Amino acid sequence: MNAAVKPGLSGNENYGFADERELRDRMRAELPADTFKPQTWRIIWFLPLQLIIWGGIAAILLAGLPWYANLGLAVVVGHTIGAQALLAHEVLHGALGMSKRWQNFFGWLGFGPLIVPPEFWRKWHNVVHHGNTNMGDTDPDSLGTARRYEVDPKQKKFTKLAPGSGTWYSYLFFFYSFTFHAQLVLWLQAKRRKAFRGMDRNKAIRQSLLCVAAWGVLAYFSGPLALYTVVIPLMVANALGQCYILTNHFLRPQTATNNPLDNSMSVRTHPILDRLHFRFSHHIEHHFFPKMAHNKAPVVKAWLESNFPERYVAPSHWQAVKLLYSTPRVYKTPTLLVDPNRPERTFDLLPLQYEMSTAARNARQVA
Ligand SMILES: [Zn+2]
Repeated sequence: MNAAVKPGLSGNENYGFADERELRDRMRAELPADTFKPQTWRIIWFLPLQLIIWGGIAAILLAGLPWYANLGLAVVVGHTIGAQALLAHEVLHGALGMSKRWQNFFGWLGFGPLIVPPEFWRKWHNVVHHGNTNMGDTDPDSLGTARRYEVDPKQKKFTKLAPGSGTWYSYLFFFYSFTFHAQLVLWLQAKRRKAFRGMDRNKAIRQSLLCVAAWGVLAYFSGPLALYTVVIPLMVANALGQCYILTNHFLRPQTATNNPLDNSMSVRTHPILDRLHFRFSHHIEHHFFPKMAHNKAPVVKAWLESNFPERYVAPSHWQAVKLLYSTPRVYKTPTLLVDPNRPERTFDLLPLQYEMSTAARNARQVA
């Protein structure tokens, strides 16, 4: 049994091992050296992505198409905006090399449409999220521990928006929450928290307002067609991003050390979609090596699956989303989830560790 916390304990103990440094060193030594080299050539993907986005918007506005064709184009444009953000995520980690200036340029292309300026993203995601992944109340991308809601009960209402709360509107969360969450972090968390020091928050706010203004101009010139050029693309792009982001850590225990094998989760998505989404499904791999380009992530995955089948967790994408909607979102203990609005509702994460592991998958395939 690989789990550091065994069933039967009270659950207050911290989960996981503290072997992340050792694992990184072993992978660096054992995997091909080019696994960790910047993959600058992948920047070429921005060209088709930009062509699809601008071409799609132009066709909606100028071609006088029937509503169903506009709807189809709106979904394609939104999907492309979402996929482009996944590639920009790699760019802003430095996985494609380039100077900070060029990274920012492509960062704007990828995250600007979602109203997230690149310098703000770097601080929020690269520094604060990657540095404190799923840890206590310090990860801005987690709904945190029950203690947070005991200290400030007003925050309980936010958890009702999220999947797993059981509210009808939690089913809308995917369609707006990336942009919404980014603005919450920018306006509230970045103001209060020390971790965001050193970032020019006022500049990021001005830049965000500029992004909103750009969408506003497009909406104005689109008239009623703004449904297809603005509203649906933004909803689809949010949903695509959140389909991955919400599954990355929400079903994993909180850990004492920042160990991706214990606090993060990858998902198994359709192979064609996985390529269209720049293999963002490889999230454990990404947290081990944030500067590694995602086209190299399958090599890391293969290594982890063969060396740690009981600890490597990657359910099917569909199963992950279903589980999100059937489990509460707040940590009562590092391994026990609770609904702060209905404290009697809890969910033990430990059995999932094995159920969603490669070892269980291998066993099912043999049976
Ligand atoms: Zn990242």
